[in-house]
Amino acid sequence: MKKEKIWLSSPHMGGKEQQYINEAFDKNWVAPLGPNVSGLEEDIQDFLFTENTIKGQVAALSSGTAALHLALILLGVKRGDEVICQSMTFAASANPIAYLGATPVFIDSECDTLNLSPEYLREAVIDRIKKGKKPKAIVAVHLYGMPYKVDEIHTIAAEYDIPVIEDSAEALGSSYKGKKCGTFGDIAVLSFNGNKIITTSGGGALISKTMEHKKRAVYLATQARDDAPHYQHSEIGYNYRMSNICAGIGRGQMRVLDDRVKERRKMNSFYEQIFKNNSEIKVQKEPTNDYFCNHWLSVIFFKSGPNQFSKEGLRLHLEKENIESRPLWKPMHMQPVFADAPFYGSNEAEDLFLRGLCLPSGSNLTEEDRGRISKSIQNYIN
Ligand SMILES: *Cc1c(COP(=O)(O)O)cnc(C)c1O
Repeated sequence: MKKEKIWLSSPHMGGKEQQYINEAFDKNWVAPLGPNVSGLEEDIQDFLFTENTIKGQVAALSSGTAALHLALILLGVKRGDEVICQSMTFAASANPIAYLGATPVFIDSECDTLNLSPEYLREAVIDRIKKGKKPKAIVAVHLYGMPYKVDEIHTIAAEYDIPVIEDSAEALGSSYKGKKCGTFGDIAVLSFNGNKIITTSGGGALISKTMEHKKRAVYLATQARDDAPHYQHSEIGYNYRMSNICAGIGRGQMRVLDDRVKERRKMNSFYEQIFKNNSEIKVQKEPTNDYFCNHWLSVIFFKSGPNQFSKEGLRLHLEKENIESRPLWKPMHMQPVFADAPFYGSNEAEDLFLRGLCLPSGSNLTEEDRGRISKSIQNYIN
């Protein structure tokens, strides 16, 4: 009999989600608005912004991709513009740039955090300005929950006065120098897709510094209706608001977010332990104490050059035992669909992609699951 599948990252309900959904049914708030939507926005706001900081504004949306799309619109990105984007990321960071007819300019990674290289970012900004087009925005990603080099990246952005869209889709619960990810960008984005650290089955949020931005995001997300008794529109709108049912799941999930972060970090320590005496394989870790990673996914790297073990070898070995693992995000500058987009860098992201593997990281993995994973890995490397 085939053993039960161990997933990379699967939904993990906390128990209170159903209660919020029942309330929505009881009061017939089965709609893309209602008390769960505003409740979830407040929960996220309270989580991200501590007592004595200026609170950002949260708009709950139908997906992280929708939030990125609206973020670009709020920053005035139009056809023919250029937007800088981290190359090593999930396609959703870059696709909305193309929705608007703008061109993504991809930047290589540095290997401390896998994220935007400050060096190549600066080179790209200078070169694009020299070529006559100042980039309209920078999409910076906290990949696998690891904060990007916040100080360096935001210093460059400020120097050239380019707004940052902080793609924090994978980094809810992470922080940098004690400040939560999702609070750094001019606009930040969260995702509550089914595989993320918490989920609403599908959903996202846009975090902005001003109420004007939030209001405009909600207006665009609800078909851009003018203030009139009839349906009147002066702009193209979208259907991007989160439903009150999904938001109910989100409210339940927010109550257990801190536990989920603990569990994911425990999975990372578990892999640290497995590979601690292995000279061929390294587990990704926080570069300094400034970084606090939710370890949404735990990542390992195989040594470069010819060796006996490979990420693909391990992946196939685990697959045979019904354990899911996955290569890192294939960099966008290597994707057929973005073959014509400019790229600044060398081969850092490509090298990380070739050597890296994501291992099962779910907060709902059991002691028995860990036993199976550990045994399977040991069998491969011994
Ligand atoms: C998941 C994800 C998104 C998109 O979120 P959806 O809610 O799936 O649309 C964007 N960026 C990154 C880095 C992601 O991992």
